[in-house]
Amino acid sequence: MKVAIVEAPADANSLTADPLDHLADTLFHEMGSPGVYGRTALYEDVVERIAAVISRNREPDTEVMRFPPVMNRAQLEKSGYLKSFPNLLGCVCGLHGLESEIDAAVRRFDSGGDWTASLSPADLVLSPAACYPVYPIAASRGPVPPGGWRFDVAADCFRREPSRHLDRLQSFRMREFVCIGSADLVSGFRERWIMRAQKIARDLGLTFRIDHANDPFFGRVGQMMAVSQKQLSLKFELLVPLRSEERPTACMSFNYHRDHFGTTWGIVDAASAPAHTACVAFGMDRLAVAMFHTHGKDVDLWPIAVRDLLGFPEADRRPTSTIEELRCAKEVGS
Ligand code: ATP
Ligand code: ZN
Ligand code: MG
Repeated sequence: MKVAIVEAPADANSLTADPLDHLADTLFHEMGSPGVYGRTALYEDVVERIAAVISRNREPDTEVMRFPPVMNRAQLEKSGYLKSFPNLLGCVCGLHGLESEIDAAVRRFDSGGDWTASLSPADLVLSPAACYPVYPIAASRGPVPPGGWRFDVAADCFRREPSRHLDRLQSFRMREFVCIGSADLVSGFRERWIMRAQKIARDLGLTFRIDHANDPFFGRVGQMMAVSQKQLSLKFELLVPLRSEERPTACMSFNYHRDHFGTTWGIVDAASAPAHTACVAFGMDRLAVAMFHTHGKDVDLWPIAVRDLLGFPEADRRPTSTIEELRCAKEVGS
């Protein structure tokens, strides 16, 4: 199987140095494509510890589901993804022909030709966000109860936005909490998470701000959708200034979909009114990169409170680990 992809934008692969570049060797292994990396044990350990912090903050009565990196293509089409972000989508393709046709494709490759011309799309796409598969599952369960539903979902996600920047990957991990219910219920859920997420970020020692945001909807119609998304406050982001204050990195997002998924999937309450939905998304890789950029490459030197929150063993602590001392150590040129 192979993944069909749209051509990368020309300016996305700029080779100029970036403030996050110093982390590359500590966190990642090159795999031949920008934004697709093997991960070091050190990095992965931090990703898992951040995930555990998020789990500890899960609200009661939240159902946990984990999804694979692919999902049903028709489901994503029905969700409206092709209207909003067709440029970011990766579709699974395969050699689906007769044995003779598959043989011919391989022979073409052996003689220096293009075997990919024989590919055709499968019924799968690479999941662009973790929450898409949960809505049809919820719809199959019948009317939403008065208290709504809450889900904790996660998936490896793909977006065709190749970049040399370590905080913009093509393949990255997304964790989400999703709420389905009345407009008031899901708005309350999102409000609570905007507050709770700031406490998590503060406890992790990250500098951040919360701001209105919009998705980069595709094309001219998309520009109008983006303006209205912002005006209606449908999306907020928790932004961490990793490379500059002016262009901070979104490490979490807080999204209110109104009744879009309720209407699309027929998720209804007892009176047959479409449910509203909201999700809060954590970019696990971005959060981990932000931690290393903020606190340094040596986790033994991270602030004690941060190490405690992440559950690092006390024995590994080194003496210079208050935030102030760490800052001094950095200035001296570590
Ligand atoms: P951006 O504006 O930076 O492209 P986004 O608005 O597309 O982000 P969302 O669609 O809200 O991001 O996705 C949820 C979270 O997933 C983001 O807040 C971010 O932390 C993470 N994320 C999104 N795109 C990427 C990516 N290309 N690489 C790494 N993490 C990502
Ligand atoms: Zn979502
Ligand atoms: Mg994006």
